[in-house]
Amino acid sequence: MLQQIIDSFQTGSLEAYRESLRIWVNDKAPPVESVIGFVEPYRDPLDVRAEFEGIVGIPDAAETKILNTLATKANQLVYKLPWVEGTGDSKGPYEKELFEPPDFSSINSLVYCSSIIFPGINLPNYNDLRQDTGYKNIIFSNRMVSESSRSRGLHMVDASGQDTFKKHRFHAYYIWVVLHEILGHGTGRFLTESSDGVLNFDMENPPLDPFTGKPVESWYRAGQTWTGVFNDLATTVDECRAELVGAYLIDDLEILSIFGYTGQSEVKPDDSKSPRRSQKTKAKSVTYSRLQHVSSAGRRWTSRP
Ligand SMILES: [Zn+2]
Repeated sequence: MLQQIIDSFQTGSLEAYRESLRIWVNDKAPPVESVIGFVEPYRDPLDVRAEFEGIVGIPDAAETKILNTLATKANQLVYKLPWVEGTGDSKGPYEKELFEPPDFSSINSLVYCSSIIFPGINLPNYNDLRQDTGYKNIIFSNRMVSESSRSRGLHMVDASGQDTFKKHRFHAYYIWVVLHEILGHGTGRFLTESSDGVLNFDMENPPLDPFTGKPVESWYRAGQTWTGVFNDLATTVDECRAELVGAYLIDDLEILSIFGYTGQSEVKPDDSKSPRRSQKTKAKSVTYSRLQHVSSAGRRWTSRP
């Protein structure tokens, strides 16, 4: 992989760089993880030129174990999503029969050279490589830890809630990021029509639109794709969808217990001492903390010109 990267830097060969990415994707759970090259185009208004970045990290064994547990249960957790029907093999028209979680690891970064330090990455960005070879999801756990030890609160949160907010926010943030990546991206199934008119659903007994309760009236016709239909909004809509899946699942007690948040853990789903509070209410405290963060972020963004 490194040799291909060196070749690409010395000769400018894009194919050498793409070959290095194929090797990188197939190198599952390496003892030393690295990302190097011109990767993300976020800083370019035209989304074309990518910024150079270099990352080296080592796996976080404890976190990776939790992620693996979550991954083994992911197919069952999909049943908790609101559009999934039934409990058997079929999950209804809007979900694949078997959900296969993406490759996922949690690492501690030793070096992270970039103008944006991401909490998690999902690479490569080349769609054809993702399709043919696959992709890797990586969470940077020490990035989350250092943020969680930051003493600054959030001025939009009421003074009475600051301590709870500071204590919970990045625990909630971490779970949200993981749920976003594992169950947010990758769930869902398209209703499609092939070029010879074959539908992948039963037209005699059509799926009901979850919003109207009436039979669906549209689906992906031959040649139509997600990006083709949504155009410039495709990534935005997909990210919103992944965020909402994370928000929807974050107060689930089974999921919280996989992450170690129980009544006995050091950081509890809620710090209230009131015995009258149910487990469900306690879990919602983590959700509340996260929603405070998101709503304040939303207000910040929408107030920009
Ligand atoms: Zn995402």
